[in-house]
Amino acid sequence: MTDSRRVLLKVSGEWFSGAKEKGFDEKTFASLTESLIEAKNQNIQIALVLGGGNIYRGRELVSLNIDQVSADYIGMLSTIMNGIALSNFLTSKNCDNSLFSSFAIGNFIKAYSKEDAEKSLLSNKIVILVGGLGNPLFTTDSTASVRAVELKSDVMLKATNVDGIYSDDPKKNKNAQKFDYITFDEAIQKNLKVMDQTSLCFCRDNNLDVRVFNANSNGALLEALINKKTDLGTLVKVKND
Ligand code: UDP
Repeated sequence: MTDSRRVLLKVSGEWFSGAKEKGFDEKTFASLTESLIEAKNQNIQIALVLGGGNIYRGRELVSLNIDQVSADYIGMLSTIMNGIALSNFLTSKNCDNSLFSSFAIGNFIKAYSKEDAEKSLLSNKIVILVGGLGNPLFTTDSTASVRAVELKSDVMLKATNVDGIYSDDPKKNKNAQKFDYITFDEAIQKNLKVMDQTSLCFCRDNNLDVRVFNANSNGALLEALINKKTDLGTLVKVKND
């Protein structure tokens, strides 16, 4: 291990579609690419876990009468499409990167191994992790927490469209309060819709800090990646100190 900061960034599929409901938004990819390259140049080791909601989420397909397990396979494949696109954007800017899926696809996507991902991080490549955990019935939030712990990340960053974690939905309740800090236990008890409960429990049990922040505000993504002491969004921790 080196002394450099290592972060696991979870980017939801929703974010890739920008203002559109589905698909790819070129501007979003371009601004993500720019922040990743700048952070990498500042010696930050970055592994990303990508969601797939801009293409398909399992639960949307279940409502079309596709069974849950098959729907989740389609959901996992959606995350792979996002990975191919992001890898391509980075490569087109001469930024070294490695794309790994939890399951190999033909001869063009390598299967993830902790050792290979770590080697890539240590050789200053951005690591893109797709395919979820490779198991149906899980989410990419759970994937992000597992990979963050496996890769001994200093923090997990969850890029979202909201400013952090609120006591209630800020779009529906004007009096909703934003938390600067919250413990995993509080978030679980209050059933706050920030991450699924499986990933909250996993992060708590493995003492992994999670910062939830709005990646749409100017400079926020870069700030979250490079600044250990940032006060962006909400920090979820085991204990409030
Ligand atoms: N998925 C899965 N197993 C995993 C991760 C994801 O089956 O380990 C499927 C699930 O159907 C999910 C979809 O992949 O809906 C896309 O992931 P997610 O909904 O977490 O993406 P996001 O909401 O972050 O865009």
